[in-house]
Amino acid sequence: HEAKRNGLRFAAYQPEMSQRIQRRASLEVRLERAIRERRIELHFQPQVDLQSRRLIGAEVLARWQDPDLGRIDPGEFIGLAEESGLIHALGKLVIEESCQQWHQWRSSGGTDLRLAINMSCKQLEDDGFIAFLAGVAERCQIPPRDIDLELTESSVMRNPAQVVQQLALLREHGFGVSIDDFGTGYSSLSHLRQLPITQIKLDRSFVSGLLQSRRDLSVVNATLTIANDLEVSLIAEGVETAFQAERLQALGYTLAQGYFFDRPLPASVFAESWLSLAEPSSGSGSPP
Ligand code: C2E
Ligand code: MG
Ligand code: MG
Ligand code: MG
Repeated sequence: HEAKRNGLRFAAYQPEMSQRIQRRASLEVRLERAIRERRIELHFQPQVDLQSRRLIGAEVLARWQDPDLGRIDPGEFIGLAEESGLIHALGKLVIEESCQQWHQWRSSGGTDLRLAINMSCKQLEDDGFIAFLAGVAERCQIPPRDIDLELTESSVMRNPAQVVQQLALLREHGFGVSIDDFGTGYSSLSHLRQLPITQIKLDRSFVSGLLQSRRDLSVVNATLTIANDLEVSLIAEGVETAFQAERLQALGYTLAQGYFFDRPLPASVFAESWLSLAEPSSGSGSPP
């Protein structure tokens, strides 16, 4: 009787569950195909110096539009990619395409630009990953110091021992390592001290709370102290207003990123607005 009651209880949930499972299965098949056909697009969001407002780098953000289902949120497809193992192929695509784009911008006279590439900890479990990354960087003639790899604080804290070793290897190759969404992952200072990182990226939730919340202000200040203490660079993400930009600067922040400066942009738009590189078009003079 007990089993039957349980059975009925589960049966009642089934339609909703199976819908979720079906969407997931369908998305996985579609994502696999999209990666294989290289239909993942990259957007670039400027990172700026707060004082001069000048461009210092761009964060690369993956975009996926399915022909039938429309735009899928990165929060959904990155999670799916991590669970299904597709993250390895997706991560390689993002690295190849963004480094090729960097090379093309550089060849057409683009100024110094660093790339911030998001990475899942899962990718570090692949033994060939760092060699792959180094190979792509070399082919595209991008100095490793111009690439920052962003890992979320929570993912780094979940498997520190294994990750630390791989991060150290990334550093030996000269790549930058940035801790993304900082402040949300409960790292202790002693933990952080063991991580071979070059940058901390303050999570946007603390930037948006700057105006109202004293606790957010204290995280913003504490993060600055930690970055100084560890002698790593610091950037704030999710800056949406002039007030937030001014406030962060007054508190001692030097770098920022967010809608206030610009949204993540398709490569052509990014080049036009931030690199003063118009897309090649007929009729205009040829580049020098
Ligand atoms: P993230 O790395 O923390 O990226 C910042 C997210 O905040 C992006 O969301 C960006 O569009 C958004 N954002 C930027 N400025 C502002 C702002 O001023 N206000 C607000 N409200 N949001 C802002 P997006 O593109 O949806 O990406 C979500 C997450 O997906 C990323 O968070 C990153 O963790 C992950 N992701 C995106 N592309 C990749 C990728 O190629 N590989 C991996 N492993 N993860 C990726
Ligand atoms: Mg990021
Ligand atoms: Mg972030
Ligand atoms: Mg995030």
